[in-house]
Amino acid sequence: MAHVNENYRNLKDSYLFSDINKRVAAFAAAHPEKKIIRLGIGDVTLPLMPRVIEALRGAVDEMGSAATFHGYGPEQGYGFLRDAIRDYYAHIGTALEPDEIFVSDGAKSDLGNLTDLFAADNTVLIPDPVYPVYVDTNLMNGRKIIYLAANAENGFLPMPDVSVHVDLIYLCSPNNPTGAVYTKEQLKGWVDYALANEAVILFDAAYEAFISDPALPRSIYEIEGAKSCAIELCSLSKTAGFTGTRCGYTVVPHALTAKTAGGGVLSLNRMWLRRQTTKFNGVPYIVQRGAAAVFTEEGMRQAKETIGYYKQNAKIMAETLTRKGIRFFGGVHSPYLWMECPNGMKSWEFFDYLLENAAVVGTPGEGFGVNGEGYFRLTAFGGRDNTAEAMERFQKLF
Ligand SMILES: *Cc1c(COP(=O)(O)O)cnc(C)c1O
Repeated sequence: MAHVNENYRNLKDSYLFSDINKRVAAFAAAHPEKKIIRLGIGDVTLPLMPRVIEALRGAVDEMGSAATFHGYGPEQGYGFLRDAIRDYYAHIGTALEPDEIFVSDGAKSDLGNLTDLFAADNTVLIPDPVYPVYVDTNLMNGRKIIYLAANAENGFLPMPDVSVHVDLIYLCSPNNPTGAVYTKEQLKGWVDYALANEAVILFDAAYEAFISDPALPRSIYEIEGAKSCAIELCSLSKTAGFTGTRCGYTVVPHALTAKTAGGGVLSLNRMWLRRQTTKFNGVPYIVQRGAAAVFTEEGMRQAKETIGYYKQNAKIMAETLTRKGIRFFGGVHSPYLWMECPNGMKSWEFFDYLLENAAVVGTPGEGFGVNGEGYFRLTAFGGRDNTAEAMERFQKLF
């Protein structure tokens, strides 16, 4: 009989969203007359923008004609898209070579696949609370994880403990679930720590497009030295509504190396290229045409409009929480508001309270890690009318 990967037995079952759905279904059955508003999901709701739809249609037509049909493409993405991403990076202040950019079907796959490049005995540092993918993908490989507490005292932006050595570091800024954003000075602290420890940072920039303060870093490569110690993951999921269309990109700089057991060094860029060309056959041509349209001038304008809509939702929520005197983090350069549960309630207690008394659904912070207990995540990805109505109901509580 075949043997399983024992590491999978160390994974905790993820009950967060199924628990939420169960409780919401029970409430809906008991109160069929109540309109439930969901501010819990981490998925976008606005449709793809016109510039993208036009590009997708054009590419579909190309696929229907022998002269313009596309079969297998380059595993790491078409040149037209990698050039567009390079230009985008140049625009936000970072010079990259196109072959440092790898197009993928999203940041989640890349986060999982990148663990292929590193030895199982590397020690991994992961902030808590955080996007659960970082923890689970490393448990699957049997790596030792050290958790770093993110809490109100450090503004949910923990800094490294220089007395502890780690090999891999996960950072997410703007953060899911807390909405907190590292400053350049703070990221420099992380880059300095990584360089001193010869560690690699996996920097998740999925929400960079929500940053509107030019003083805040949108890419870790804005920090000197980062190209020698960081991989950056990004995605069109939240930037341009590609959660169901699937396209992301990962930057692995030429300067980035890691040690071999024999004391040599290998280029992680070359290893990643080797991994992708072996295990991945690229993102559909049609989707890459749609993705490239996001980086056109008109595409950027339309994406900014969509993000502006979500950010206005966040502002409405932030104003309500402020009026109620509730402490919260995020909500400015992020679609997420991370609020302290009122009256000392625990995360699930507040979940039930909000559902029962306002028919509003959010996400219990405890589901993102032990330091999330007592907190609650609201998302700005809902419709404007629903967001405003949810906040009117909220206003009348406690
Ligand atoms: C949504 C999200 C992503 C994007 O994942 P895709 O697979 O590209 O859809 C990545 N990281 C975080 C923290 C996210 O919340």
